[in-house]
Amino acid sequence: CGGCQIQELDYQKQLDLKTNIVKEDLKRIGGLEDVQVFDTIGMEKPFRYRNKAQFPVQMEDGKLKIGFYRKKSHDIIDIDKCLIQDEKNDLIIDIIRKYIEEENISIYDEKSHKGILRHIVTKVGFTSGQVMVVLVATEDRLKNLDRLIENLKDQVEGFTSLVVNINKDKTNVILGLKNINKYGNGKIVDNIGDLKFEISPLSFFQVNPIQTEILYNKALEYADLKEGDRVFDIYCGIGTISLFLAQKAEFVYGVEIVEDAIKDARLNAKLNGMDNLEFFVGKAEEVVPEIYKEGKKANVVVVDPPRKGCDERVLDTIVEMEPDRVVYVSCNPSTLARDLRYLEDRGYRCEKVQPVDLFPHSVHVETVALLSKL
Ligand code: SAH
Repeated sequence: CGGCQIQELDYQKQLDLKTNIVKEDLKRIGGLEDVQVFDTIGMEKPFRYRNKAQFPVQMEDGKLKIGFYRKKSHDIIDIDKCLIQDEKNDLIIDIIRKYIEEENISIYDEKSHKGILRHIVTKVGFTSGQVMVVLVATEDRLKNLDRLIENLKDQVEGFTSLVVNINKDKTNVILGLKNINKYGNGKIVDNIGDLKFEISPLSFFQVNPIQTEILYNKALEYADLKEGDRVFDIYCGIGTISLFLAQKAEFVYGVEIVEDAIKDARLNAKLNGMDNLEFFVGKAEEVVPEIYKEGKKANVVVVDPPRKGCDERVLDTIVEMEPDRVVYVSCNPSTLARDLRYLEDRGYRCEKVQPVDLFPHSVHVETVALLSKL
């Protein structure tokens, strides 16, 4: 469908490419010539790794299409298999396709803004085996869902939840805010390492759980936590890294801009019986300087910013606070390089950099870097 930009490239070559992207950006943008960049950690089996899928649904000249958008368009490429998704998805799509055809389900049309079913979203817990299916619809009027539920129960191992999500808006955003549970409790659970997470239709969860565990363990290794260590986890999302760190640290402060993510973070802490964490909602560039001024301090800082990297006010506060180590988790090597340079010019040295392949067959790469106070 074009979603995987480099699927035709041999997998080892993909990994080499990603290592080179990181090295080149560090050199060119960060002026970091001698820093140790390890080979990108890849997957043993780089297919079927995704735990979440979002399929738009369209009716074109009387033909039903379920699949992915062609690049830079809203045409759907009809698919019966997606090789990077969990295998259960192929079966789920097949069952829903039959349901739509047999029950003559009304399909949403973007142009006229008419019709009911818009998207099919699936989430699979890799360790729990649990499966959630979300039907995104303009209204709660999908016919004979009981029959669909029976078929999913009979044929899909681990099927635990069917949710109808209501999205009435003219928008590219897939999910609306209202969820109606039609079967099960509208949640699945999954584990990363020893930690348990509850996942609902709207909550964010890393899409490649196998590599996520490797990435987080690497971050934890670089954080090198010892008794009494206090940690800031900046840009913490639903607190996955925070909880990982809290297993070893004395106390972890998490900061994140999305309020719902922080709700999930607090819930996840409770679910795992952990009370050595505190979470703050707001812009990191405002919250971090504020709580530092109030006296909250850390000797290890972890940052995991969005693609645009860290705000300078965040970096300045880190420099002022003088933690022994900064662990930088990045989804964009070029802003990583820029920010590493900034910290190198202010008393830190970048010790080592480890790229991890979370998105085989795409050009994206995640990287963990360790900086130490000089
Ligand atoms: N560490 C988390 C999520 C990292 S993704 C995990 O591994 O799951 C980056 C996060 O930064 C997102 O959750 C996003 O909502 C948040 N974010 C984006 N801009 C922000 C800002 N200015 N201040 C605080 N958080 C921000």
